[in-house]
Amino acid sequence: MKLVLKYGGTSISSAKDIQNVAKHIQSLSKQNQLVIVCSAISDTTDDLIEIAQSIKKENKKKAEQLAKKIANRHQQLASQTIKKSQVRKKLLQTFDGYVSELIALIDGMVLLGEVTPRSMDYLFSFGERLSIKLISTAINDIGKKSISLTGKEVGIVTDSNFGESKPLMDTTRLRVSKALESLFLKKTIPVIGGFVGADQHGHVTTFGRGGSDYSATIIGSCVKADEIWLMSDVDGLMTADPKIVKNARLLNEVSYVEAIEMAMFGAKQIHPRTFEPLLTKKIPMKIRSSFNVKNEGTLVTSSPSLTAKNSVKCVSNVSHNGLIDIRGGSMVGTPGTAGKIFSTLADASINVMMISQNPSESSITIVVKNADLDKAVNILETELLGKIIKKLEITTDMAIIALIGSGMRGTVGVASKVFGSLAKNKVNVSMITQGSSELNLAFVVKNSDANTAVQALHNEFELSKINLK
Ligand code: ASP
Ligand code: MG
Repeated sequence: MKLVLKYGGTSISSAKDIQNVAKHIQSLSKQNQLVIVCSAISDTTDDLIEIAQSIKKENKKKAEQLAKKIANRHQQLASQTIKKSQVRKKLLQTFDGYVSELIALIDGMVLLGEVTPRSMDYLFSFGERLSIKLISTAINDIGKKSISLTGKEVGIVTDSNFGESKPLMDTTRLRVSKALESLFLKKTIPVIGGFVGADQHGHVTTFGRGGSDYSATIIGSCVKADEIWLMSDVDGLMTADPKIVKNARLLNEVSYVEAIEMAMFGAKQIHPRTFEPLLTKKIPMKIRSSFNVKNEGTLVTSSPSLTAKNSVKCVSNVSHNGLIDIRGGSMVGTPGTAGKIFSTLADASINVMMISQNPSESSITIVVKNADLDKAVNILETELLGKIIKKLEITTDMAIIALIGSGMRGTVGVASKVFGSLAKNKVNVSMITQGSSELNLAFVVKNSDANTAVQALHNEFELSKINLK
């Protein structure tokens, strides 16, 4: 099989983990053609982001301290992981070169006072540059040929939307397949940095946080992979958060559309565009743990077989959100009201997570993250209060609970089961939404009721028996 394996940062954060990953890759390579995609090692991207923030605040010392911290972490890992002294020495020299470049970049950014999206993407790309060198060297160290390539080097070409770029798939496909085919012939395992590409002028771009998942599916689609495995520290997608529900179970199989819904919640956060490149080629994906390779994880396909019968597959929750009820008599029958509200929020870069409007049109209710609440209320008050809006009512600390599963579509009685069971458990519901796709029934409750609601629905839909049916 042709396999793309993507490792998240936590899977490659200690010498022992890296050695295990290298051994697993070596054993898989006997039967399969492999492409490895890596994230930056845990905390590295966060540190790089903090460097950018420190430069913005003109705190050069802090930025340099963080760069040292990144350097130490990687030097230490290299020393502990790589056994052959010559190989280790060469890796440490390479790291020295990267660190000097990083320090020079910080100097330059401080000097120019320039923290633009473009310079930030270049800065953030250091995390993956370091991690792929380490992983490919660890594979070499156990006697297998491997080279590291950044997203730019392998040929991922994107638009110039720094911080949130999109691949130009036709050019990317040509370049990536050419680069990788020649490595397959040489039996050399490519270790590619996720998250990063370059625009047509060669400027480094990133796909946004968590973008390595997206890199893996882009590359998988370019080389027509048979499967893509996202290796992280969770066993796969679950019926609920196991911290809340003791008998939560691993889902053996889900569809792309269900996985897209689940990716928003849950322990394994997946970059929202990850599934895009898979849809036309219908490449199956597995979500697996690098710490438990005996477990097959969750298979994500275009048309899952077994589980299709289950009406609901999982109940997930996101806590700490704010609910804003926007009211006003003049909103009734006035075209453009919703447009004004949402463009006002969009101009302030506020992401709206849920929306509902009653047919009387006298109120629109939205949910945003608690962290965005203050900004959202402020901008609505200054821009629209007294004009189209008469009153804002705000509730903090609310949880969104979502029931997900394509089997809900056209099934009579799901809603009655949901709200019946919540009533039995004395949970009050503040807002409800269901799109006509019927994939996701979501509602809002108080944070303090969230665990009760999740547990109640997990029981009601017998999700602990999901793979036994
Ligand atoms: N290193 C990047 C991040 O932390 C990309 C990724 O991990 O997928 O967001
Ligand atoms: Mg990550």
